[in-house]
Amino acid sequence: MIIGRVLENEKKVKFELDIFCTNCGKKVPGRLQTGESYYQTQEFHAELEDFKKNYLCGVCRDKKRRD
Ligand SMILES: [Zn+2]
Repeated sequence: MIIGRVLENEKKVKFELDIFCTNCGKKVPGRLQTGESYYQTQEFHAELEDFKKNYLCGVCRDKKRRD
C-alpha cells in the first residue's frame, strides 16, 4: 500500500506498521511504502496519523460497502 507521495523515478521506502481497525479493533500488519523524500517529514507523520485514524480492516470495509 502506498501512502503519501512518490516522485517519478524516486526510490520507495518500505516500512511495516501495526494498524488497528477503527471499527472492530483487529490488529492488521501493514506493509506500507512511500517516497524517500517524503518519508519522516512532518506531512508524512500527519498523513500516517490520519491513515491510522480512518483505517478499516478488510472485513469491516466490505461490510461498510454492503450497508
Ligand atoms: Zn475491522
